[in-house]
Amino acid sequence: MSREMGSDRGSSERGFSFKALRWRFLLIALGTMLLIAFMSLVASVVVGERSEELEAATLAVKTTERQRMLTQRIALGASELGEETSASRRQLTRHDLQAQLELFEEQHRALRDGRDGLAAPATMSPAVARLFDAGASRLDARAAEFVEQGEAVLTLDDADLRPGAPAITRLVDNARNDLLGHLNLLAAEYERVVDQRLASLQVATLSSVGAVGLLTFAWFLVGAAPMWVRLRKEYAGMVAAEQDARAHSERHRLAGEIAEAVEMAEDEPSLVRTAERVLSAIDEGEPAELRLADSSRSHLELAAFTPAREPPGCGVTSPSQCRAVHQGRAIVFASSTEMAVCPYLGERPGGPISAVCVPVGYAGRAVGVIHAVGVEGRVPASKVTLEQLAANLGLRLGMLRALDAAQVEASTDALTGLANRRSASERIREMLGRGERLALGMLDLDHFKHLNDAFGHAAGDQALRRFATVLASEVRDGDVTGRHGGEEFVVALPGLSRGEAVPVLNRLREVLKRVTLEAGCPAMTVSAGVADTSQATDLEELLRLADEALLEAKERGRDQVVASGPGATRARALPDRMGAEEPGTAGR
Ligand code: GH3
Ligand code: MG
Ligand code: MG
Repeated sequence: MSREMGSDRGSSERGFSFKALRWRFLLIALGTMLLIAFMSLVASVVVGERSEELEAATLAVKTTERQRMLTQRIALGASELGEETSASRRQLTRHDLQAQLELFEEQHRALRDGRDGLAAPATMSPAVARLFDAGASRLDARAAEFVEQGEAVLTLDDADLRPGAPAITRLVDNARNDLLGHLNLLAAEYERVVDQRLASLQVATLSSVGAVGLLTFAWFLVGAAPMWVRLRKEYAGMVAAEQDARAHSERHRLAGEIAEAVEMAEDEPSLVRTAERVLSAIDEGEPAELRLADSSRSHLELAAFTPAREPPGCGVTSPSQCRAVHQGRAIVFASSTEMAVCPYLGERPGGPISAVCVPVGYAGRAVGVIHAVGVEGRVPASKVTLEQLAANLGLRLGMLRALDAAQVEASTDALTGLANRRSASERIREMLGRGERLALGMLDLDHFKHLNDAFGHAAGDQALRRFATVLASEVRDGDVTGRHGGEEFVVALPGLSRGEAVPVLNRLREVLKRVTLEAGCPAMTVSAGVADTSQATDLEELLRLADEALLEAKERGRDQVVASGPGATRARALPDRMGAEEPGTAGR
């Protein structure tokens, strides 16, 4: 949701709005329509003019043609008049000739009136120019002469009408020799003008259509092309924003999954396995590794890496030597050839690479580093995810280590480092619960009160620590040792009977003597009582029996081990809680 709002805002920040675009589009469409209408009007006027000129030229050709035919008919009519014998026929022919002469005159006027509009002087051939414009027009003169000769024929008396009459001969000669020659020349010239105008009309039509097209295209380029470019850019921006949003939500999803997976790790080994699974899930062909320091934070060691490939092989061994750990932030190296590159990156074989190093830490304390390498010049694509993994790992690791420390603290005796009474009891109870066979020894330092009194409490503490060290080192791995309270200790020896446990406890007694002697400390001895699960399977009962045997050992003169049995019958009060006994208060 916030993402979408973000892209809207981005759009208006870029000065883009679809409303403005719509108006702009409408404006361009309207402008284009107006332009096309205007251009079409201009084109139709130009083409119209050319058409009219062509029509006039065509008409002139036709009129010239008619005039030629009429000239021939008049010449023929005059010849026929000379041959006519019947008065009535002669009268009719004379009448026809009269009408044809009038038509000739009329057509000639039309030819002369129309010639100005027909051709500009430049397009007129020199012959026609001479015909029309050189002084008195020869065509006009010929035509007038022809009409005059025609009228002269008409005025001939019937007696003068005969073939070869001079007036008729002049008329026919004029028609054949001069007038028809001029008319032929004129017709040819008019045909040439028609051809010219036809070509000019074609040029005008084509150029009008071309101009409309070109102008419209230019208008589109000026008006719509920037809009198109803008739209393309906006579209590309939207696509990029969508991809960005997708990548963001994918990262978000991955971050959630990483957090959940890390959260589920119950201890450090399973946390490391989770880290390995995450590295394998985000593997994009770039090797990555996790280097972790133990609780002492002294040594960085390879803990996990992208399973499908070799670890990147960072040689850093101590947190203080790692620049990312030292600075407490992710560091990117675009190339291992950079001047200020980490020395552990610069020394890699196999050519230049890029790298990202992300520190892993909690509560401001760095405990490791995630390190990924990639192609030189390109930061490993998984950087953001690695940072998320590092943050989650750091938090979880901090919590698990704090939890471990608290548990150790709660179950350990602070002075001796042995299990305290509660935790030792719990572990022995668990063994008994599993039905394990075991011997339980109860050990009590002899005359410890004297030692305290003679050498001070600190010396007493020192002696307790020394005894604890001897005790822990003299038993096997699966044995349980614990400080039961004050200067009393318990030891559970699984698999042993009380008889078999006696030599073990005796050996321990001997070692204690030797160690105190070697250390030059005041002599210290220990008494022990031991019972086993053949006598009781309940911890309280076992403790009571062992304590009885211990009392027997004390009574027999201390510095010895007594197995619980008929000889160890006298009861001794058990301490209520750790350290509850005061010197000399053990009830015996
Ligand atoms: P016994 O041989 O009969 O066991 O004599 P004892 O003096 O060892 O026994 P007693 O129960 O009289 O005295 C135990 C002494 O151990 C009393 C107490 O001051 C001392 N003690 C108990 N806890 C500690 C401790 O944490 N540090 C020191 N320095 N002394 C302790
Ligand atoms: Mg005691
Ligand atoms: Mg004692």
